Amino acid sequence: MKRLSIDEILTKSELRDTQITVQGWIRNERGNAYVRFINLNDGSTIHNLQVVADVNNFSEEVRKDWNTGASLKVEGKLVASQGKGQNVELLAEKITLLGASDAEKYPMQPKAHSMEFLRENAHLRMRTQTFGAIFRIRHGLAFAIHQYFHERGFYYWHSPIITASDAEGAGEMFRVTTLNLENPPKKEGKIDTEADFFGKATNLTVSGQLEGELGAMGLGKVYTFGPTFRAENSNTARHLAEFWMIEPEMAFYDLKDNMDLVEDFLKYLINFALEKYADDLQFLDERFEKENKQKKKEEQAEMGLIEKLRFVVANDFERLTYTEAIDILLQSNHYKKKKFQYDVKWGVDLQSEHERYLVEKHFKKPVILTNYPKAIKAFYMREDEPLADGKETVSAMDVLFPGIGEIVGGSQREERLERLQARTDEMGISEELWWYLDTRRFGSVPHSGFGLGFERLVLFVTGMGNIRDVIPFPRTPKNAEF
Ligand code: ATP
Ligand code: MN
Repeated sequence: MKRLSIDEILTKSELRDTQITVQGWIRNERGNAYVRFINLNDGSTIHNLQVVADVNNFSEEVRKDWNTGASLKVEGKLVASQGKGQNVELLAEKITLLGASDAEKYPMQPKAHSMEFLRENAHLRMRTQTFGAIFRIRHGLAFAIHQYFHERGFYYWHSPIITASDAEGAGEMFRVTTLNLENPPKKEGKIDTEADFFGKATNLTVSGQLEGELGAMGLGKVYTFGPTFRAENSNTARHLAEFWMIEPEMAFYDLKDNMDLVEDFLKYLINFALEKYADDLQFLDERFEKENKQKKKEEQAEMGLIEKLRFVVANDFERLTYTEAIDILLQSNHYKKKKFQYDVKWGVDLQSEHERYLVEKHFKKPVILTNYPKAIKAFYMREDEPLADGKETVSAMDVLFPGIGEIVGGSQREERLERLQARTDEMGISEELWWYLDTRRFGSVPHSGFGLGFERLVLFVTGMGNIRDVIPFPRTPKNAEF
């Protein structure tokens, strides 16, 4: 018999009144002395298939195993449902137990669990409705990212995971070594990195950008989509030590082209989720609403989840410079009433509270901030003409989203060898980055790119509150279980 998923069984009308076989896990079981109802789920959809079992046909011995979490194979006839809540149900003729589950011990009981409890049971949480929905959407977004770029002539480019350059400066790195840490070989009192596997010190990458730029300098348009690692000791709801990043890099793109691309890209992805994962989003929308009601008035979101996603797709992002943003902050009542914890003045890096004020209170929509002070941004960003008052900026762009803050960081890259070299000289990294500087030596072109944190996108689309809940097995300080 053809293998059928519960999603197919519930949506294909031609299956009605036919014999089918289905396999899945019991979400819950209830009923009376004559008939039992088993809700079965196989991960293909948020919806369960209701299996109806006549007590006369199944012995007590068989029925005692119908516990939440157990897995079954059920054969029978799919018929129109008598009850509310589903169109079809399966009249069971044969039920085979695939794997038993001890009702007392199974952690995923059919009731509301705290997010913390579900994190501690991350090996089983994908069997809940919430996490099923999240991980289906996560998959869908990953697929849509490849589709978007492929259809627009970008090549999927694999930057290395192990790197010898720690020049990017995006964050603290994790060391990769095969040296015996108990008793490492030493040279002049220091660990002898020449004796290490690669003959030099190596780390896990914090970003695939620099190698992405190398790809763009021959292939034109490339994108990476891979894991990146940052030993960030910040225990926030928006940082992971291991996260996935999408980094497109485009030859012949200036900052404006870069902004146009990122806006179109984000709208495409959100729209894809709205169209293809409507049922999962409907469920998450209701969950979001419940959570929202429990928050303090001033922290409540003004829009529902689906409403917010539609709003982002339908409206232009606000584009302004860092300098304009500082002026807005300085003139805000929020600032005048001293409600910001961190200082606001030209030259400081914007804190999350400032970003969120701009996005959630002032503009009430996504914002692209550009032309940040040179001193607070990375060395590879293109220097702008100095401002009238002599202040120095670079062609950076950060995309800020409501409830998230920074979701994308990008820039036009410095393509002029003398300027770039001056900056790498200052930092003492010119020698190490000889290969990077070579791209500016041989056929340099204006180019741009950005990095989208995949989990921040999934966080936004699913309306979840903590980044630990949108990746199957989160890696955070003091936590690498599973
Ligand atoms: P933040 O200021 O939020 O720490 P960042 O300035 O360090 O971000 P970038 O180095 O520009 O971020 O990285 C590009 C993108 O990667 C960010 O816009 C964000 O979406 C994502 N990102 C950065 N750090 C993390 C992290 N630790 N966990 C998850 N996503 C991250
Ligand atoms: Mn960071």
